[in-house]
Amino acid sequence: MTQTLIGAIEAGGTKFVLAVARADGTVLAETRIATRTPAECFPDMAAFFESAVAAHGTIGGFGVASFGPIDIDPASAAYGTFTTTPKPGWSGARYHDALGRFGVPIVVDTDVGGAALGEWEQGAGQQCGTLAYTTVGTGIGSGVLKAGKSLMGFSHYESGHIPIARDPARDPYAGFCPFHGDCLEGLAAGPAIKARWGQSLSDLGSPADEIKLIADYVSQLAVNLILLHMPDRLIFGGGVMKTPGLIPALRQATEARLAGYIKAPQLDPGLETYIVPPGLGDEAGITGAIALGRRALGL
Ligand code: ZN
Repeated sequence: MTQTLIGAIEAGGTKFVLAVARADGTVLAETRIATRTPAECFPDMAAFFESAVAAHGTIGGFGVASFGPIDIDPASAAYGTFTTTPKPGWSGARYHDALGRFGVPIVVDTDVGGAALGEWEQGAGQQCGTLAYTTVGTGIGSGVLKAGKSLMGFSHYESGHIPIARDPARDPYAGFCPFHGDCLEGLAAGPAIKARWGQSLSDLGSPADEIKLIADYVSQLAVNLILLHMPDRLIFGGGVMKTPGLIPALRQATEARLAGYIKAPQLDPGLETYIVPPGLGDEAGITGAIALGRRALGL
């Protein structure tokens, strides 16, 4: 029996993970390509899927979980198009330009929306009515799912750019965001940590104070996510969050900031089951892209 396959793309700032999978999620082919300009990436991407089709059979739909900013509104004429990214060459690039030749539906969400979906289906977000997935890495962003549906307004959320309370006496670093300086991403993303201390959080000798500072900043997002969305769980992934001790420090800082105001069974003492790392680890993104592809197949 011929099976209709899924083409899945997890597009990040440094690499693309490409996979061809069966509808049940079994991966038949997978590769990684470096993120360069779309003129360089898109032909490589299309070539991978063409060779996978030759080897494994027809692709019936694509799922894309991509860095942004990107238009993820299916009703928009520009669906799947990068908007105002400072990344050279990406503004105006559209996944449909590269994948249109396959003539099948393409479902596009953000990288964090995709990871949230992957975690909701198979990871640490299972059984959560509302789930927030945040990445703290090269950039910062959050995807919020309600009943498995990615929430958005006129565009996807930009949680990395929320304003942050910063004490300049404690942290004189003014932030690197070209738009806001000391927004959350400007203060707590990987590049901010490197610019401030010359190395990554996990490479610092005894980083207790540094971890506390970053946890304090990220906790401001955690509290905002709780106050605005009341998620059943918060998942925090990304390279920075892998620093040993950061998740426990984030739980502590978030609980302190909530100050006992919200009482709910979800908010367990110490937030140990409430704030968690991704259950799928680094596979959350591609798992989510495959799940988006399943939706492209109409499943
Ligand atoms: Zn910003």
